[in-house]
Amino acid sequence: MKFGTKTIHAGLEPDPSTGAIMTPIFQTSTYVQAAPGDHKGYEYSRTQNPTRSALQNNLAALENGKFGLCFSSGMGATDAVAKLLKPGDEVISTNDLYGGTYRIFTKIFANYGIKFHFIHMENIGDIEKYVNKNTKMIWVETPTNPMLNIIDIAGAVAIGKKHNLITVVDNTFASPYLQNPLDMGVDIVLHSVTKYIGGHSDVVMGALVLNDETLAAQLAFIQNSCGAVSGPQDCFLVLRGIKTLHLRMQRHCENGKAIAAFLVNHPMVGNVYYPGLTNHPNHAIAKKQMRDFGGMMSFSLKDNSIDAAMKVLSNTQLFSLAESLGGVESLIGHPATMTHASIPKEEREKSGVTDSLIRLSVGVEDIEDLIEDLSNALA
Ligand SMILES: *Cc1c(COP(=O)(O)O)cnc(C)c1O
Repeated sequence: MKFGTKTIHAGLEPDPSTGAIMTPIFQTSTYVQAAPGDHKGYEYSRTQNPTRSALQNNLAALENGKFGLCFSSGMGATDAVAKLLKPGDEVISTNDLYGGTYRIFTKIFANYGIKFHFIHMENIGDIEKYVNKNTKMIWVETPTNPMLNIIDIAGAVAIGKKHNLITVVDNTFASPYLQNPLDMGVDIVLHSVTKYIGGHSDVVMGALVLNDETLAAQLAFIQNSCGAVSGPQDCFLVLRGIKTLHLRMQRHCENGKAIAAFLVNHPMVGNVYYPGLTNHPNHAIAKKQMRDFGGMMSFSLKDNSIDAAMKVLSNTQLFSLAESLGGVESLIGHPATMTHASIPKEEREKSGVTDSLIRLSVGVEDIEDLIEDLSNALA
């Protein structure tokens, strides 16, 4: 089955009791048993829920994986993966990381004796310098936020396999439409379903997809033991959103390309960070491991001041000033004062997050309107 067919059909069957084509919202906590232990595969909804199972199976199919697990948020999924580790274990992670991931690693799991190395992964071989006998996991996020760096997934997997490490890829920015890390040998794919997969800015959810049965069983055990599961109503909304994932992503990519081209030629704009541009430093890797380049990008202004950025940010009409990404509506954000405000100026500037840097999550509106909106704000 091809991707666009899978979004609509994979893992889904008409409801056996009524024939309803849409998976019902099984809003139930428990399931009646005929005799103790004689049940239909469902005992209690933290452990199993039919709406969640349908979504988990669908997500597994989209990532070409065998097992899917849904969590109450992307951070809930991250928390479950980190709980595979024990005191003394070490993780080598991308340095340009989602802020919440950096926070849970450094403020929560570091307290439990787990050590994290945050490193540049542009030269993927550098990972090996940090591998020692305690290393257990490589954590990759690509494309990164907000600089849209692309990390070589196959390169990370090669080092992971050589040293018997678990490789994890946070695939939120790409979505399963643009890249499937399991196909490249990754052990665990993580999504903030809140973003492109849900796609309508109305649900917070996370997911993991895997092929390895032992790891999947460990993570299902953690999911059930710790309890950060997604509710049936949210699973229904995501199942509904997923049916247009391929159509939305197509338009996100088209609009992304057109806006990057517009920005590159604009006299007020400094640098444009979009992996689809041939002069992007990681364009070759992006082309190799992604099917297209998505709708996320950042750009700086020639007048590299907070004031100049504020003028643009407060003068768009269609691009709404908000955190998050991946919804049908276009969003604009200012990393230096929003998502990256807690990082000291000197440090954030080292990674390219300058005062004027603006991040766009390009939505699926008509491109003429989006360009007119940015054009007015830049003027
Ligand atoms: C949003 C996000 C997360 C966290 O997901 P939540 O659903 O907000 O908990 C993790 N990684 C990336 C790349 C994200 O964008």
